[in-house]
Amino acid sequence: MLGQRQQTIGQSISASGVGLHSGSPSKVSLSPAPVDNGIVFRRKVNSHVETCQASIRNLRPMELCTAVGSNGFQIQTTEHVLSALWGFGIDNAFIDIDSEEVPAMDGSAAPFAKLIQLAGILPQERPRTYLKILEPIHIGDDNRGISILPSPFPRITYTIDYDHQLIQQQTYEHEWSTVEFEANIAHARTFAFSHEVEALWDRGLGKGGSLDNTIVFTETGMMNEGTLRFPDECVRHKVLDLIGDLALLSIHVIGHIIGKRSGHHLHTQLVQAILDNPEAWTLVGPPEKHATDLADLVKQDSIHAMPLPANSAF
Ligand SMILES: [Zn+2]
Repeated sequence: MLGQRQQTIGQSISASGVGLHSGSPSKVSLSPAPVDNGIVFRRKVNSHVETCQASIRNLRPMELCTAVGSNGFQIQTTEHVLSALWGFGIDNAFIDIDSEEVPAMDGSAAPFAKLIQLAGILPQERPRTYLKILEPIHIGDDNRGISILPSPFPRITYTIDYDHQLIQQQTYEHEWSTVEFEANIAHARTFAFSHEVEALWDRGLGKGGSLDNTIVFTETGMMNEGTLRFPDECVRHKVLDLIGDLALLSIHVIGHIIGKRSGHHLHTQLVQAILDNPEAWTLVGPPEKHATDLADLVKQDSIHAMPLPANSAF
């Protein structure tokens, strides 16, 4: 894996839908970007184009999803499109968007993964730099938390535990590869519980949610017709979300992440903690550009996001 070149996509490609929380129509276009660009959201505001790097330094506090913002615009529910890009090993891309929320599509990363496959994955001339974990970092507690440990290759072990007959305790082991991501992670959908959905609507959230983009569990079963895409679809979706949130690190990480009843808030706290603890990692691969970026990031104050329920289903 080391020595792999940076990657972008082969051509621009678009998708449209509605935002899960806003309910607003939204169109995203993924486009190729030059080496060392990273993943950058762009939005046309009046006659000019504003940009926002998909980076932890641009994290915005948000309930139930991950959001980034800068230069006067904000994008929420970034995690599924970022998961598709990061899961496929795309280092550099532009994401043009015409609303404040990435469209929910079918609630998974599969539609974005399909776009990337149609556009093609293009190796670029410059090698990729990796952040290799040397010392463990822990966030949270014994009941609910996330850790990253040294490992010779990137891995995720995720465990969830819900008192519901279709979920209960599920653990998923993800060994990082494009093939594994596409086959076993990308298609896993967002899930929620019927009592939560009604509470969300009361608070003006989840307006774009429907059975077309969310698995909704009732007390004894689920509202959606058909069956789950995987018996352990819920924990696979948590892995999907985590991969999308890891994209905010802006560099591929070599370590073993262990999530336990975690969620977006803890995922992004882990990303920040990695940057706050430079003694716990080293850069491998050509360091110049990314080393400068990371040094800039480490100097930033820690993000003080508002406390949120870490186990929220979105
Ligand atoms: Zn999600």
